[in-house]
Amino acid sequence: MNSNIKQIVIDTLSQISDPEIPVVNIIEMGMIRDVLLEDGSIQVILTPTYSGCPAMRQIEDDIVLALEKKGFNDVAVKTVLSPAWTTDWLSEETKVKLKNYGIAPPLKSNPDDIFNIISMNQQINCPFCNSEKTELKSFFGSTACKSLYYCNNCRQPFEHFKCH
Ligand SMILES: [Zn+2]
Repeated sequence: MNSNIKQIVIDTLSQISDPEIPVVNIIEMGMIRDVLLEDGSIQVILTPTYSGCPAMRQIEDDIVLALEKKGFNDVAVKTVLSPAWTTDWLSEETKVKLKNYGIAPPLKSNPDDIFNIISMNQQINCPFCNSEKTELKSFFGSTACKSLYYCNNCRQPFEHFKCH
């Protein structure tokens, strides 16, 4: 019984897309750490992909709203920051989706690189033409989660999803 409800909850959550990257949902992004059921109430354990993301509030609202539509009225979203979200939680399939969307897939995260120092100097290949002739235009792109790059080969700007 409980496992059925949990599956319905997870199916519902998998229909919520990342507000910043509409091609992937919050399950694929590895943001949902757990779903706890207790006496008819549901607790969704959420870990933000990037602690500074203003989109997190929207995601929390989306979760509560989506589950209310399924008849779950007692829903709480608990944000857990530890362990911190890592790009290692992304499946290969999700990384391909990000790439096809024009976002250079994140590289393996480095737990020591909390300020993305190494990421700033990493070689980022263009997601469109795979060229290495890219340059960092802005460390902070459209959101704090992404950096803006420019490809000197195909002359297109693209975003790189940062590792933390
Ligand atoms: Zn290119």
